Amino acid sequence: MKILFLDQSGQPGGAELCLIEIAKPYRDRCLVGLFSDGPFKQLLEQEQIPVEVLANRPLQVRKDSGWITGIKSLGQLLPLVARVVQLSKQFDVIYANTQKALVVGALASFLSQRPLVFHLHDILSAEHFSSTNLSLAVTLANRFASQVFATSEAARTAFVEAGGRPEITHVVYNGFDPTQYECDRIQIEQVRQQLEFPGKFLIGHFSRLSPWKGQHILLEALQRCPENITTIFVGDALYGEQDYAEMLQKRVIELGLQERVRFLGFRSDIVPLMCACDAIAHTSIAPEPFGRVVVEAMLCQRPVIAAQAGGVVELVQLGVVDWLVPPGDPEQLAAVICLYQTQQEWTQTFAHQARIQSQQRFHRDVINQQVAQLLEQVCNRDRHYISYSPHPTPHTQSTRL
Ligand code: UDP
Repeated sequence: MKILFLDQSGQPGGAELCLIEIAKPYRDRCLVGLFSDGPFKQLLEQEQIPVEVLANRPLQVRKDSGWITGIKSLGQLLPLVARVVQLSKQFDVIYANTQKALVVGALASFLSQRPLVFHLHDILSAEHFSSTNLSLAVTLANRFASQVFATSEAARTAFVEAGGRPEITHVVYNGFDPTQYECDRIQIEQVRQQLEFPGKFLIGHFSRLSPWKGQHILLEALQRCPENITTIFVGDALYGEQDYAEMLQKRVIELGLQERVRFLGFRSDIVPLMCACDAIAHTSIAPEPFGRVVVEAMLCQRPVIAAQAGGVVELVQLGVVDWLVPPGDPEQLAAVICLYQTQQEWTQTFAHQARIQSQQRFHRDVINQQVAQLLEQVCNRDRHYISYSPHPTPHTQSTRL
């Protein structure tokens, strides 16, 4: 099966990192079409996954944009759709990995008569999307997608509540290669020396800098913790949230945390950094659609403290309630951090259990097998229709209404 993947971003966010694992088995018969250039393209190239940037500049529409911005962007959109239509004729299926990719992919699917799959990496709610974008995503997915892959049960529920068709929607978790999350003692020691926090209890926060990712909550919590608790923030403002990044730096000074906090920017060596931490904090203040960092921390055998909302709740299945704290509550976060610091043997036991469990549940081979089966169904349905219909009309009209 030949797949044309579409993704709007040149930045390696969670949706893009997830796509790398999904595309790997198809690297000799797929193309990833990006709507924007950037480091994500290099990551795909490193993995020998064919990639092409299809647009000269990023589409101007944002998650909170309304109709007027949408109409203004048509001048950019139409040549992109034309290019995707042309390309898609060489592929069996169009796989839209982001919201803007859905818009382009839906139109291209209609025009080229190739089936469309939409991987939904978002919680479609008013917290994240304008009402225009929300209804556009649901309408296009319902009308044009043969299947919707929701990144978690939380994402699926939000999609269905917003009017999405439940019968085409399947939960497909992110897949990981557990062998990539191993680190030896020497590596860990080296990283700890570089971080220059000798003998301190180190909390890691791994996420792009963005208000809803809640880095500020961890700063507020840290101020309530003893002096020997320190933090590294790994991640950058990937989507233009520079104001927030500056606000965080100022807050560190206001709270007098200069000696206890480091901002490391975007890093590609996540694993040794995670392994060098004593615990990982996830602090999103809005429901997280999936929360890759939570799984990655579990695979690295690090104890996690996560915000109890969205997909994250599904990832942590041990019934160890201490792992989850209410989103946006620095008081409770600080209490669990202090507990973790004093109970390190106990936290190591459940981190070990969580590792074994996550190695099975989120193994990329398991997830890729599920994806392959679902894609096979899409293509078989399409082939079946084309070969048995006496008067073929566009598949979008016959199978998806
Ligand atoms: N990440 C990274 N380098 C960084 C910060 C984050 O590679 O400096 C990775 C992180 O390990 C995770 C992904 O970016 O795999 C973020 O995914 P997540 O689902 O946590 O959040 P999203 O960005 O999709 O909202």
